[in-house]
Amino acid sequence: MSNGTDDMRGERFPWPHGATAAVLLTFDVDAESGVLWEFPDTARRLGIMSHQAYGPRAGLPRLLRILARHGARATFFVPGFTAEAHPEAVRGIVDAGHEIGHHGYVHEIVTELTPADEEAVLERGAEILERLTGARPRGWRAPMWELNYRTPALLAAHGFAYDSSLMDSDVPYRLATGSGPDAPTLVEIPPHWSLDDGEQYAWLPGIWDTAVIEGPDKLLRMWEMDFEATLAEGGCLVLTMHPFLSGRPARAAAFERLLERIVGTSGVWVATAADVADHVEALALEPVVHEPPPIDPSDLARRISPARSTDAPKEEQ
Ligand code: ZN
Repeated sequence: MSNGTDDMRGERFPWPHGATAAVLLTFDVDAESGVLWEFPDTARRLGIMSHQAYGPRAGLPRLLRILARHGARATFFVPGFTAEAHPEAVRGIVDAGHEIGHHGYVHEIVTELTPADEEAVLERGAEILERLTGARPRGWRAPMWELNYRTPALLAAHGFAYDSSLMDSDVPYRLATGSGPDAPTLVEIPPHWSLDDGEQYAWLPGIWDTAVIEGPDKLLRMWEMDFEATLAEGGCLVLTMHPFLSGRPARAAAFERLLERIVGTSGVWVATAADVADHVEALALEPVVHEPPPIDPSDLARRISPARSTDAPKEEQ
């Protein structure tokens, strides 16, 4: 398959119901988990914890009201620790008819975990979400969109239907979990950093303070342009928002303006990630196999600068 919206024959991606493009509204309900893994000392900083708790306490209810006003269903990726700390938030999402996906336990970056720890975190988060919602999550989104090459096989072994973390396509695709013909597959639903509110809105002293806070008007214009281009190409717009960021009044108002436009445009399929995974699963797509670049990372410096290999101490020459 091609990684563009058109395949090699120039045919458009086959969306269901005669739709020309798809839009996924996804929310990562990071809350406190969003800083605790990378910055554990924030557990003792009430100000920062309150900044993160704004998501489930104030931002999420506002965003749920907006989605309800426009009859739009969304996917909420929730870390297990967040679900334990804010069970009423998870129940509110489920009661409103939205999908719950897995987003780690304490938002672990899985490339920092051993294989055993990665599996333990996956299982622990899934158990917590199942206990709260009555159903195992069908989808997973990697915290910080960081995956190991082994991760897709682990997700398939634990019964997941899709991942939404990889960035090498404009449309969903079938993701191979190994190179053999019998390797199980997942559906991949690609996000992107430019379609994540965090890059415009996130600011905390000493945590995320290398850029200024951007205004909702900027993000609205950016995403309107992405929506227009997605429509023109028949692609898949995967928006990623965080209730502690996009749940604030002016930002939520900007999101509502964009949502009004999305649901008011004919031919747009507004779908949950699970709905998209079910649709893509039924298509005859060739699985995409990901292999690490054929290079030993510890050997990289010598490869890019062969002269270094002659810098060895004299006694070794
Ligand atoms: Zn996250």
